Amino acid sequence: MNRIYLKPGKEESLRRFHPWVFSGAIARIDGSPEEGEVVEVYTSQSMFIAKGHYQIGSIAVRVLTFRQDEKIDASFWERRLKVAYTMRKAIGVAQSSTDSPAPLPNNTYRLVHGEGDNLPGLVVDIYARTAVVQAHSAGMHLERIAIANALMKVMESEVENIYYKSETTLPYKADLYPENGFLVGGDENNIATEYGLNFHIDWLKGQKTGFFVDQRENRALLERYAARRSVLNMFCYTGGFSVYAMRGGAKLVHSVDSSAKAIDLTNRNMDLNFPNDPRHAAFAEDAFKYLDRMGDQYDLIILDPPAFAKHRDALRNALMGYRKLNARAFEKIRPGGILFTFSCSQAVSKEQFRTAVFTAAALSGRSVRILHQLTQPADHPVNIYHPEGEYLKGLVLYVE
Ligand code: SAH
Repeated sequence: MNRIYLKPGKEESLRRFHPWVFSGAIARIDGSPEEGEVVEVYTSQSMFIAKGHYQIGSIAVRVLTFRQDEKIDASFWERRLKVAYTMRKAIGVAQSSTDSPAPLPNNTYRLVHGEGDNLPGLVVDIYARTAVVQAHSAGMHLERIAIANALMKVMESEVENIYYKSETTLPYKADLYPENGFLVGGDENNIATEYGLNFHIDWLKGQKTGFFVDQRENRALLERYAARRSVLNMFCYTGGFSVYAMRGGAKLVHSVDSSAKAIDLTNRNMDLNFPNDPRHAAFAEDAFKYLDRMGDQYDLIILDPPAFAKHRDALRNALMGYRKLNARAFEKIRPGGILFTFSCSQAVSKEQFRTAVFTAAALSGRSVRILHQLTQPADHPVNIYHPEGEYLKGLVLYVE
């Protein structure tokens, strides 16, 4: 196996089980590993320290194991997936018929969350009887068939179809030519259930794996605040928050997204759950235009924009974007209103996001209290040795 030797002292983060080797930490490479191959990592003192997928780029190795005797074979994938599945059952998102008392039916959850499940570069979301697998590294792409086989074994009674969706998540330069498509099965039925509500999941063309599974608990919290309120769901995409607001007894719900496809999806999801309910309307329009022209009719506003900063260099503009967006909401929301505001940019820290929202609040001159500080749900766990894995930030604010 190819070996990578680190510069002196560069093994420190690996000793603390951080799962990445940065290219700048490498002193030399024995052999010429292909992208995606498994390599062994050694300290400058020639001591084994980790084993993982090699890739050209700033993260050169994504660690799969810290044990030299652990082989990366079929049983490795089965073991890791089994641990992930057991955890989802333990926290109640993966349900079984014997759960008591019976919870609201749910068959939508994240089974594998990359580093959070000690499988850097791999995401698996479960939608009813279909698993959508997404590779974010060359190594996981090359292992897709082994992963699919292990998944069928571990989830044998739960999963019938495996859809592979990595056309937009793999490094362009690695010449991997991933094709989206079914690796197992091919069921076209794409309706999944989240806490008793039904959604069409667009794994063929949708963003991420087809749905924003990571907002589940925050949608459930919103439901509790929705009664008798006039709700604006800005950046609605699939209409997730809108459907929960309807179930929560909202007086009216308006969903807005600049994408006509998203509005169509929102309407279709609303039809699945609340057909012909006159409380809901959806508009395809740019967020800033809508916020400028809308009146002061809303007393519950959700702002869940796309990642404004995909990279660190976009940070300044992103923070300005969050500030402007939230300032509009503070200006318009009715007294006694509640604002759910989010950032899913990994490059933006909790503190930076909070400062942007704080500045927006101050500009509006309104009295604002923080009711909840939100993050990603338990099926998107953060590996304690990899704090970078925490990406979703949210604030629920009461605006006097
Ligand atoms: N809240 C959603 C996820 C939002 S994803 C959920 O719970 O599922 C971000 C959405 O913002 C995308 O659907 C995208 O089409 C939309 N969007 C991006 N830029 C926009 C803009 N300028 N105005 C309105 N919507 C925008």
